[in-house]
Amino acid sequence: MRHDSLLTAVRWSHHVLAPRLLDGDVVVDMTAGNGHDTLFLAQHVLPRGRVFAFDVQAEAVEATRLRISESEGVTLIHAGHEDFASHLPVEQKEKVRAFMFNLGFLPGGDKALITRTETTLRALREACEWLAEDGLITVVAYPGHEAGRTEADAVEQWMSALPSDKFETQRIGFLNFRATTPFLMVLRKRTP
Ligand code: SAH
Repeated sequence: MRHDSLLTAVRWSHHVLAPRLLDGDVVVDMTAGNGHDTLFLAQHVLPRGRVFAFDVQAEAVEATRLRISESEGVTLIHAGHEDFASHLPVEQKEKVRAFMFNLGFLPGGDKALITRTETTLRALREACEWLAEDGLITVVAYPGHEAGRTEADAVEQWMSALPSDKFETQRIGFLNFRATTPFLMVLRKRTP
């Protein structure tokens, strides 16, 4: 089928990851939300891999549980992603193939439970430590509200300043849409 519109930021994140994930990989959904990314990851790394999915909202963890039919290999964790390292098996350090962040609030959920610049950056820095060589981090950012704009800018600044001998980073988004349109940032840990 021929697509009509160009890909949204979320679709781009799947597009970037899909050809780089293999059955057996260990991956993390840092913002489970309604579970779409968790399901996407599970479809690419199971049955031999493992998916860890975090959310601070019990409703989101439950929605994700309902979305994934195959629960073996998927671990749902009701905790903030800034603490992800205390929930992952220590032997997975430097073995994680991908971390996905989909920032903002849960559509239809509690808008007070939004991702926050400080914890998002803390989680991103720690994720870099746990990432495998050639592993990826994707971040979909939502500059449509003020806190989201601040957060998107902070992540973009942080990614822009990473040393290019260790990381490759990209920004993917629309050029002629409003500046409030969500966009994708991608980080790849280079092999030395
Ligand atoms: N904005 C997206 C959905 C994002 S969902 C869209 O429109 O489709 C973001 C999820 O992150 C929410 O379910 C929220 O509960 C969760 N969240 C917020 N802060 C978090 C944190 N510190 N750790 C883990 N999840 C968090």
